[in-house]
Amino acid sequence: MTASKESEIERIVQTLVNAIAQRRLKPGQRIVESKIVEILNANRNHVQVALKQMALANIVHIERNKGAFVSQPSAKEARDVFAARRVVELGILEQITPEKINTYQKELTTHIEEESLTIEKGDPHKIVLILTSFHRLLAKVSENSVLMDILDNLLIRSSMIEMLYSRNAVPSCASCEHKNILSALQEGDNKKAVELMVKHIEEIEEHLILVDEKETSFDLADALNAI
Ligand SMILES: [Zn+2]
Repeated sequence: MTASKESEIERIVQTLVNAIAQRRLKPGQRIVESKIVEILNANRNHVQVALKQMALANIVHIERNKGAFVSQPSAKEARDVFAARRVVELGILEQITPEKINTYQKELTTHIEEESLTIEKGDPHKIVLILTSFHRLLAKVSENSVLMDILDNLLIRSSMIEMLYSRNAVPSCASCEHKNILSALQEGDNKKAVELMVKHIEEIEEHLILVDEKETSFDLADALNAI
């Protein structure tokens, strides 16, 4: 694959993944290939490869003669994703040292400040994005790119699960819990950070109820153009 083709596919994947992570594209929604070609001004073949890559990561599923759909995780898959998050995120915390925290200190502080500001402004899409990116930032601080890739996939799937099963529209993942996890890591108390993270992930999971989501209508162009 040429570098330009690869980066074009990456652009399409990222746009669709962002739309799913920001809850603009919903679980079960059909992704019409020809519309993606038009909206993103992309090559049809590139869109097909992008959708196949997303299907491999279980973010979309492709039905023969029907096309691609945003995955609709079952309740069992939802529990499995959260169980996997616990394992992966605790693994990430174990690899964070006070030295690594020092290296990323500025980025971490800025992130926490941005969380507060974004929550104050109240745009739910932006809140989801910033709260999720705290977990991604910790993966970056761990400097383990494999764990980071695995977590990326789990976070997108978590976001889809929260869309389907959340008790309320407000994200349950609270910023003050992030602050406490970070403080424990800054103090070099990884044991405490692990305990806080377990509780934090449990809390997100506790906000889920296993009911079918109501049918709603979506506009694909709106979802992709708003990014
Ligand atoms: Zn969180």
